[in-house]
Amino acid sequence: MKNIVILGSTGSIGTQSLEVCEKEGFKVKALTAGKNSKLLEEQARKLKPEICALQDETAAADLKLRLKDTDIKVLSGKDGILEAASQSCDMVLNSIVGIAGLLPTLSAIEAGNDIALANKETLVTGGVIVNREAKRRGVKILPVDSEHSAIFQSLVGAPEGSLKKIILTCSGGPFFSKTRSDLENVTAKDALKHPNWDMGAKITIDSATLMNKGLEVIEAVHLFGISADDIEVLVHRQSILHSGVELSDGAVIAQLGTPDMRLPIQYALTYPARSNNAFERLSLADIGTLTFERPDTNTFRALPLCIEAINKGGLYPTAVNGANEEAVSLFLQGKIKFLQIAELAEKAMLNTENKQSFTVEDILNTDKAARQLVKDFVS
Ligand code: NDP
Repeated sequence: MKNIVILGSTGSIGTQSLEVCEKEGFKVKALTAGKNSKLLEEQARKLKPEICALQDETAAADLKLRLKDTDIKVLSGKDGILEAASQSCDMVLNSIVGIAGLLPTLSAIEAGNDIALANKETLVTGGVIVNREAKRRGVKILPVDSEHSAIFQSLVGAPEGSLKKIILTCSGGPFFSKTRSDLENVTAKDALKHPNWDMGAKITIDSATLMNKGLEVIEAVHLFGISADDIEVLVHRQSILHSGVELSDGAVIAQLGTPDMRLPIQYALTYPARSNNAFERLSLADIGTLTFERPDTNTFRALPLCIEAINKGGLYPTAVNGANEEAVSLFLQGKIKFLQIAELAEKAMLNTENKQSFTVEDILNTDKAARQLVKDFVS
C-alpha cells in the first residue's frame, strides 16, 4: 500500500487520480484544491486524509466548518498547499493547473517525495531548476501527461543514449483544418468542444490553440533531455497512438490505448508495476485506420512560438506560459478573441528581458510581468 498526496484533487486529473488510488487501495494522505470546498469535503469524508488544504482562504474557512466533526487538519493559502506537498509520503501527484503548481512541486522535491507530474507548467517554467533539485534530492519525476507517459513507456528497456527522436502526437483539437479567417470569431463555447478528451477548461483551450502541444514540446525537452529540434509533432486525429520514440537503429516504439487518462495516472502511481484494471480495452480492428499529418503552424502559431521559446531558453518559456494563462482566462470570459491568445503570448515573450541563468524569483517576476502585459491589453 502506498501513501499518496494529491494536489488539485477536485479537478479533472485529480478526480481520476482518486479513482485510481481507491482501486489500488492506496492511502490518500493529503488532498488540496483551489477553492472548491464542497467537493473537497466530499472527497475528504470518503477517503479520510490526514490533511486538506485550500488555496483560497475564505473557502478554507468554509471547509474547516464543514469538517469540524472530523480529525482532518484543514490548511489554507499557498503555505497550506506547500505543507501538504511536503508531507512524508510515497508519491505526490501534482494535478494543479498552471504555474501555481511550480512551488508545490519544489516543496515536494525538497521533502524527498517522488512526483507523478500532470502539471506541465511546472516544467515549462521551472524545468531546469526542478531537474536540478530532483537530482540533488534523488527524487523521481514520473509523467502523467498521456503523451509523456507514452514516451516514458516506449523508452522502457531502451539503452542509454539510444533516443534519437520523439514523436509527439496531437489530436488537432476542435479547430483542426480551419483557417485563420475561420477562427477570427470563434467563441469559448466552440473551443471547449474537444473531440477526444474531457479535460479542465484551461487545457481544453490550450488544445484548441495548439499551445498545449507547444507546452508539451517544452515539457518533453526537460523530461527526456532532448532538443526541441528532435521532437516531431504529428496530428493524429484518433488519439490512439499517444506518442512514441525513434531509437538509434531506426526502430519506432510507441504506446497505444484508448483515450483514458486513468491509464497514465495508474502507470505513474504504480510504476514500475502494471496492475490490472477494468478500463476499456483498445480494439485496433474497430478503429481500422490511424492517420498522421504535420500540424498547420501558420494557422496555429502557438506551437512554433513555444518551440522558439524553448530553443532560445531562459525565461522565454515562462513569459509565453504566463501570458497564455492570463489570455486563456480572458478568452473564457469573452474579453479577447481566440487568435489574440497566441499573439499576446508572443508579445510577452518579445517584451521579456531574457537571461539564461535564473532563480525561482526570476520565474515568478517574469510570470507576473507577462500577465500584466495581457491585462493591460484589455484595460
Ligand atoms: P482542472 O482545472 O480540472 O483542475 C485543476 C485543479 O487545480 C483543481 O483541483 C483546482 O481547484 C486546483 N487549483 C486551481 N488553481 C489553484 C491554485 N492557485 N492553487 C492550488 N490549486 C489550484 O485542471 P486539469 O485537471 O484539467 O489539469 C491539471 C493539470 O494537468 C494541468 O497542468 C494540465 O495541463 C495537466 N493535464 C491535464 C490533462 C487532463 O486530461 N485534464 C491531461 C494531461 C495533463 P478548484 O477545483 O478548487 O478550482
